[in-house]
Amino acid sequence: MKRLILLLAIVFLAAGLRAAAVLPVGEGKFTYKDYPPFADRPVDVHYYIPASGDVRRMPIVFVFEGADRGYTYLLKAWKQEAEKHKFMVFIPHFDLERFPLPDYQEIGVMDDKDHTIRPAEKRTPALVDKIFEYVRQSSGSERKEYMIYGHSAGGQFVQRFMLFHDSPYVEKAVIGSPGWYTFPDASQDFPYGVRNIPYVTPETIRKYLAKPIILQLATGDTIRESYLRKTPEAEAQGCNRYERGNQFYQYLHRIAAEHNWPCNWQKIEEQGIGHHSTGMGRRAVPVMLGDSLRALFIGNSYTQYNRLVRQVQALAASTGHKLSVKLVEHGGWTLKKHAANPETLDAIREGTWDFVILQDQSKAPAREKEWVRENVYKPAHSLDSLRRLYNPKGKTVFYMTWGHDIDTYAEMQQRLAESYLEMTAQLNAWCAPVGIAWKRIRTENPSITLYNDDHSHPSRQGSYLVANVFCSVFFQKPYTGTYYAGLPEEEALYLQRIAQEIVFSNPSLWNIQPTVQPEEVTRRFYPEPEQQYSTPTLGKPLEEGLASLFEINRYLKDLADKHPGKVTLSDIGKTPQGRDIPVLYFGTPNEKKKIRVWIQAGLHGNEPAGPEATCMLVDYLLNTPEGAELLKKISLALVPVANMDGYAMQIRKSGSGYDLNRDQSKLADPVTLLLKKAYKEWNPEIALDIHEFNPFRKEFELLRGTKVATAADVLFLPSGHLNIPAGIRTLSNGLFREEAEKALEANGYHSGFYFTPSVRNDSLYAMKDAKSPQSSSTFQGLTNAVSLFIEIRGIGLGRACFARRAECGFLVSRSLLETAALHSKEVRSGIRKAAKEACSGKSDISVTFQSTRTELPVTFIDLTKNERFTETLLTFDALQLKAELVRKRPKAYILPDTCRMQAEKLRALGIEVEEIGKPFTATVEKYMVTGYKKATKEWEKIYPVTVSTRMIKEKKSFPAGCFIIRLSQKNANLAVTLLEPESVNGFVNFEVFHTELGKELPIYRKN
Ligand SMILES: [Zn+2]
Repeated sequence: MKRLILLLAIVFLAAGLRAAAVLPVGEGKFTYKDYPPFADRPVDVHYYIPASGDVRRMPIVFVFEGADRGYTYLLKAWKQEAEKHKFMVFIPHFDLERFPLPDYQEIGVMDDKDHTIRPAEKRTPALVDKIFEYVRQSSGSERKEYMIYGHSAGGQFVQRFMLFHDSPYVEKAVIGSPGWYTFPDASQDFPYGVRNIPYVTPETIRKYLAKPIILQLATGDTIRESYLRKTPEAEAQGCNRYERGNQFYQYLHRIAAEHNWPCNWQKIEEQGIGHHSTGMGRRAVPVMLGDSLRALFIGNSYTQYNRLVRQVQALAASTGHKLSVKLVEHGGWTLKKHAANPETLDAIREGTWDFVILQDQSKAPAREKEWVRENVYKPAHSLDSLRRLYNPKGKTVFYMTWGHDIDTYAEMQQRLAESYLEMTAQLNAWCAPVGIAWKRIRTENPSITLYNDDHSHPSRQGSYLVANVFCSVFFQKPYTGTYYAGLPEEEALYLQRIAQEIVFSNPSLWNIQPTVQPEEVTRRFYPEPEQQYSTPTLGKPLEEGLASLFEINRYLKDLADKHPGKVTLSDIGKTPQGRDIPVLYFGTPNEKKKIRVWIQAGLHGNEPAGPEATCMLVDYLLNTPEGAELLKKISLALVPVANMDGYAMQIRKSGSGYDLNRDQSKLADPVTLLLKKAYKEWNPEIALDIHEFNPFRKEFELLRGTKVATAADVLFLPSGHLNIPAGIRTLSNGLFREEAEKALEANGYHSGFYFTPSVRNDSLYAMKDAKSPQSSSTFQGLTNAVSLFIEIRGIGLGRACFARRAECGFLVSRSLLETAALHSKEVRSGIRKAAKEACSGKSDISVTFQSTRTELPVTFIDLTKNERFTETLLTFDALQLKAELVRKRPKAYILPDTCRMQAEKLRALGIEVEEIGKPFTATVEKYMVTGYKKATKEWEKIYPVTVSTRMIKEKKSFPAGCFIIRLSQKNANLAVTLLEPESVNGFVNFEVFHTELGKELPIYRKN
């Protein structure tokens, strides 16, 4: 008996010890080595378990590293998602030494040494299943399954994991942007196909296709950087990750169709992003967790035709969203009838609807105002009240239908838009602007028939457009859906695009993102100008929002066609999404007597006042005598919308996911290359870049404890970079800025200096200009052009104050041209002097600098009290820089023959680079890296590097094919700023040159 008690005690003790091995919640790590085939290769598993929530039921997600095997930043990003959405995340760290490429990306299918095929239990995925079993045991989870996600090399791992391994546990797999694929193709050898893998049978492939796998691609992942595999077999899959993914996906569907196998693969195309692991991971979360939204549609045949509600659901599913739907419809019914219908009211009372969609009879909201108020607004109001009662967290969405009266289409459409938008505003609902999207397609693409034969109900195309407007409104995120409702792909994608552009370009108009600025403030401080404009946005009804690119192009083309002798409308090339970037040339760059000016706008896609301002300028130059006078003295290159892909969706970044104003020297985006090439060819003497800024910054709340915004209409951002010759800086910040300021003032507009707010020790500071001035303002100045850069008060205002904003941009542009014409001699001599100074090699180079502490009076608007006030802020002034590290200017820089890529980037920026055909020897200064710091935070898809160096003089032999950059050239200042290794705008900083601590840089100075 005693022995039994003892034995029991031991058992309990053991159980107790076991229970003690529970994984603590929060962030942690454990080492797993219990699976015999991998016992010699222990794996550290980093994880995060949310502190609150039910651990037993939380989903479990395994995330796999990229080729860098960096788990730190992955964990940091995934941890936030895990906490927010309550799931556990595990990141096994497969270090490079123990798990080289064949064991990781290729999951250990083959033994790397003897090329034998490994049995299932020795392949890496088997180990992951075992880690999952351990996690279940030690976390208290009752989940029977787990999900897997990998991006890039991690995506390759997941792709092959699912092909070669039959896990009993994986419930869902998301493959993010792999560089290349193993096709289930028996005519190619592994790793590109499966010919030499005997256990992959047709049955394996059938199963593979049936698995719930999601392929996540990025439309911006089109850059062929050095990590991309470039073997002939990989190249045969496509020339970049986006193309390869699409080919792979099409291949799977093709073999599924050939064999009549079910294929459960889905493809999601993420927009506005490139090869970005954490960004893509974040977007994969809702797809994996499958949070479902619920929508109740109330309407008539317009909602019922072509099974619209099912279409919305299928489309949502193809973009990774779950949607539950219910429909209450009766042919020809009005909202008034619905408001008295027990079935409709019961449906609303079901509750937990995220969206209740209301659609009235197609003609009712277009009738006279008084009637509409009584018979449309009232029942809408009562339905909305019931929705609020039973679904307080939900939203009422008005389904704005389309005009269909053949004779009076425009008026009918206008009335529908007014009524639906008024209801939307009154009830603080959202609007699904189908009628506006409809109108746009009628104008832009009349070959698409949106109406049915009765010219009232929607055709298949019409209904598909409606479905897309709803998906855009519900999920508010750009997408490419793979559900086409039986339409040809090209047509379906076009309809998808138009619906999204309409919704995303005017979210404040549809009340999806209400404007931050109260109407009283707008009325009191920001009235619209008296002048009427017929430019693309201002020339159309307010209800239709911002001009589309089509409308801007049409406007410019009409003007150009009327004045063939004065202007040429051309393009500087195509964006990654296939849009031509328009440019207008007034004159040529070779007219010696005319001063050359460059103006660009819309470098950030969500700053639409700039493009509108340039349209005003074009109209002024071509249609007024004053404009004609200016054109006698000036030749102008004008790029109205520099970031076309961004403008289409009203997003800041480019189609490839870059901030183009932060891409001035690394030139990572193809659009930057096109812009620089055109700039270089025009070789301007004066340049202007027009932006908009966000006046509503949270930091300003520190001032009064209430919502406060910057007041100025325009902020100037001159560059204080010390490598820009002082003469150029004085012309830019003095003469040209001051004249522009006067022009604004004369029209009642306020201006000031640009700054970004910064909070230190609970005090608000202004960072005037920018210490690391990575913007056109600096770039233009370094090319010895007089440089103006303005920010108009606009972001966050949507379509509000639009004439005012655009007019500000126009006034500055016009003033710049007038000042240029009036002071052309002074400008020319200033530039000549600066160029001479740069070429002489006498001035030193400022490599790094410190800003000066000053004060800056700033005018603000108190949004609550509706009053203006001025506050003086402590300021770090980058317009008054003090040089820190100063170097003598060399005669030339030499780059070795291995630096062709860097040499090409310099050339693209307009710097003359000579290639030396034969070997030579020279005494040079070389840089040894004595300090090295890589940023831990990703910035523009790189981790910027800060170095310190020691210079050593030595005699060095260079082989044939080296590059020489002589500094007796116009763009010498740009060259030194890019090539000095410590420079904040430089090639080393932006990883155009890769280096390490203790290494010699491939940049040499020749004195
Ligand atoms: Zn901007």
